[in-house]
Amino acid sequence: MNVRPVPGLTDRINELRSLTARIVNEEILPNENRLWIHEGRRPYSDADVKESARLREHVRDRVKQAGLWAPHLPQEYGGAGLSFLELAYMYEVLAYATGAASLFGVVAPNSGNESLLARYGTEAQKEKWLIPLVDGRLESGFSMTEPDQPGSDPRSLQTTARQEGDQWVINGHKWFTSNGTRADFFIVMCRTEEEGAATGRMTQIIVPRDTPGVVVVRAIEVWGAESDHCEIIYDDVRVPLENQLGATGSGHQAAQDRLGAGRVYHCMNSIGQMWRAFDLMVERAAVREVHGGRLETKQMIQAFVADSYMDVQSSRMMTLHCAQKIDSGEPARTEISAIKVFVPAAYHRVVDRAIQVWGAAGVSGDLPLARMYQTARTLRLADGPDEVHRILIAKNVFAQRHRGGGWDFAN
Ligand SMILES: Cc1cc2nc3c(=O)[nH]c(=O)nc-3n(C[C@H](O)[C@H](O)[C@H](O)COP(=O)(O)OP(=O)(O)OC[C@H]3O[C@@H](n4cnc5c(N)ncnc54)[C@H](O)[C@@H]3O)c2cc1C
Repeated sequence: MNVRPVPGLTDRINELRSLTARIVNEEILPNENRLWIHEGRRPYSDADVKESARLREHVRDRVKQAGLWAPHLPQEYGGAGLSFLELAYMYEVLAYATGAASLFGVVAPNSGNESLLARYGTEAQKEKWLIPLVDGRLESGFSMTEPDQPGSDPRSLQTTARQEGDQWVINGHKWFTSNGTRADFFIVMCRTEEEGAATGRMTQIIVPRDTPGVVVVRAIEVWGAESDHCEIIYDDVRVPLENQLGATGSGHQAAQDRLGAGRVYHCMNSIGQMWRAFDLMVERAAVREVHGGRLETKQMIQAFVADSYMDVQSSRMMTLHCAQKIDSGEPARTEISAIKVFVPAAYHRVVDRAIQVWGAAGVSGDLPLARMYQTARTLRLADGPDEVHRILIAKNVFAQRHRGGGWDFAN
């Protein structure tokens, strides 16, 4: 990928971008097929699997040497301690390579859980769960959505935790808990209100996977393929009270914090992937001859490229603005919702055009486009569907209007 220093940006951001691009260009892009061999469909040997694990370890070592590991986390927990703006400029580069996030220690849902533990965890919880999560000794899941309640309205969740002596006793039914097949522990969103209380008090509780009563029912098939998004029943699961994460009743706020940051990270990643799809589209159009001329000379294809340029660049600008606002400490709920709607939709459009330009190859496993297409579509409903975010944007705009002012787009 072509990454040059950006005039006007700090030396630190330019350094982050060029260090990341070097690793992407030298270590990841040339080895994409070998790095992710375990996910490939073609036959492969045990030796191939071992070699791919060795390669991944090699790239992770190089990322750590460059000081880029877990860039979203404070340095005291083994991260690089970057601000949101620095992250935005770095992620758009690292996400150019499919799967690169995990090689930089920022793979969901672990990254979101790490941020939660860093912010809400006690020292003992950080020691026991956060540190091993950051250095890859543990895996985790975030268990909030339920099959029988609307995930769009998290206050309706029915999983309960009741206190009995020095234990929490958890009962509930969750699904789409990502990474559920590998997780060593789950952060479970539970209702902890007193009997008969009018409003829900949500609390997050850490549940080790091997606790009696944790039943991983199945990994749910997604887009016609195996996935690690699991359906889980918590049946009289008992954990010590000290597994509670944050104050009783802080679960909803903690989930908003986690999801808010996660939404921004997803958008940053989508931009890197869009950039890749854009480059693939341009490369193909520049060489493919059809009906007596290269695709790049056909006006319909030129429109694809021009519209995609605008989609990528407007997504970048909105996301950078949002990151800057978060760093300033100002509330950024409207900006986060706006990018959560706009960026996945733009990602979807860009990948759709890139697939069209590539013809049959576009939907094949030889290119990353088919997978990107599914990811982009999924992002329009995961982490809060588009409709909920549109409602929030409009609510904030009208609230501002009723306070007596128009919307200030520069702030
Ligand atoms: C691949 C994947 C991974 C996921 N990973 C996790 C995870 O790790 N942990 C976890 O807890 N959850 C996870 N989820 C669940 C995800 O967060 C929920 O699917 C999402 O919040 C929507 O909830 P729901 O599926 O219950 O849809 P519902 O809440 O039933 O909503 C269905 C549809 O109703 C519409 N809608 C909702 N509200 C309104 C409204 N006010 N006005 C108009 N229309 C509306 C929207 O179109 C929405 O898509 C994952 C989902 C997917 C697909």
